[in-house]
Amino acid sequence: MKAVRFFGHKDVRVVNDIERPVPKGDEVLLKIGGAGVCHSDLHIIDEGTVVGTVFTLGHENAGWIEEIGENVEGYKKGDAVLVYGPWGCGHCKPCQQSKENYCDHQSEQAYGGGLGLDGGMADYMLVPSSRLLVPIYDLDPVIAAPLTDAALTPYSAIKRSLPKLMADEYVVVIGVGGLGHVALQILREISGAEIIACDVTEDKLAFAKELGAAYVINSKDADAAEQIQKITGIKKAKVVLDFVGATSTIDLGTKVVSLDGDLTIVGLGGGHYQYSMNGLPFGVSMTNPYWGSRTELMEVVGLARQKKIHIEIEKHKLDEANEVYDRMRQGKIKGRAVLIP
Ligand code: NAD
Ligand code: ZN
Ligand code: ZN
Repeated sequence: MKAVRFFGHKDVRVVNDIERPVPKGDEVLLKIGGAGVCHSDLHIIDEGTVVGTVFTLGHENAGWIEEIGENVEGYKKGDAVLVYGPWGCGHCKPCQQSKENYCDHQSEQAYGGGLGLDGGMADYMLVPSSRLLVPIYDLDPVIAAPLTDAALTPYSAIKRSLPKLMADEYVVVIGVGGLGHVALQILREISGAEIIACDVTEDKLAFAKELGAAYVINSKDADAAEQIQKITGIKKAKVVLDFVGATSTIDLGTKVVSLDGDLTIVGLGGGHYQYSMNGLPFGVSMTNPYWGSRTELMEVVGLARQKKIHIEIEKHKLDEANEVYDRMRQGKIKGRAVLIP
């Protein structure tokens, strides 16, 4: 079968000689409908966040069940499912609570399919346990694939701040890419706060307005923080969601977040932050959430089935993977690119 393989630093190749796996025990073989292209792949490919192994990329996966191992119950051939991405041990307390993104054993194992183990940018993907599947019913797996990360990650980050996102508050979203464009819609649908969106190009800012941002600011502007403070007034933004995570965006976040606010850094942009007592308003919670839980993914599926969130999708062939990664490096993808076998 065909697969998009990571061979090491900046070396991604589409190959045709991968053997189609056969599921055993509780394993499931999925016929891939779509595999989303996440910016985290670029951190792996360009910066070496996962080293020393060759594997198939793609950690945002959806498809139809092709074959099940002899112990799998509750699923049959043809069922449309998402693959929950952060694969934990399945036994520890966080895993039992469905929060495999915070599995006790994360430091000892690969992060999941497409993140050290074979992922979904291929004709078929082997999922190690039926526990990691979430049914999508009438949703199309091609369109639904990015729900597993581009929607789940912002959903989980927003949910932890939800009590602070009341109608008299402001929320700042930095980065209107794959994750950020879904974050805007989730905020619009489940929170009351007024949304201020930041990106670095006019088309992304116009896109943000379409998705529910009341205000848009170009974060390249030297006075971006002052522009935001002009909108929020003295109270500042109760929640800042940073989907870039560069030093400049973290710095912007610290300037606009309010007393007792949340500064949530989702982006893995390699930024640095030096704590100082006067550098951050009192009471601020600074967090770096990772992905979301399996039950939260079920809630995200609910939002999509109710048509409350819509993922803007560009469809591409597996053979176009390298071109797509290049376009992502240049910030040229609107919404999410999905590779379709
Ligand atoms: P993307 O490439 O689709 O979007 C990034 C967006 O940020 C683009 O619109 C780009 O124009 C914008 N941007 C770049 N620099 C900016 C700046 N200085 N100010 C404002 N906007 C700027 O990326 P994505 O797939 O949405 O991923 C975003 C980040 O989140 C990546 O670093 C990715 O690795 C990370 N991520 C983290 C998790 C997690 O669990 N913590 C999960 C998925 C992705
Ligand atoms: Zn991702
Ligand atoms: Zn675990």
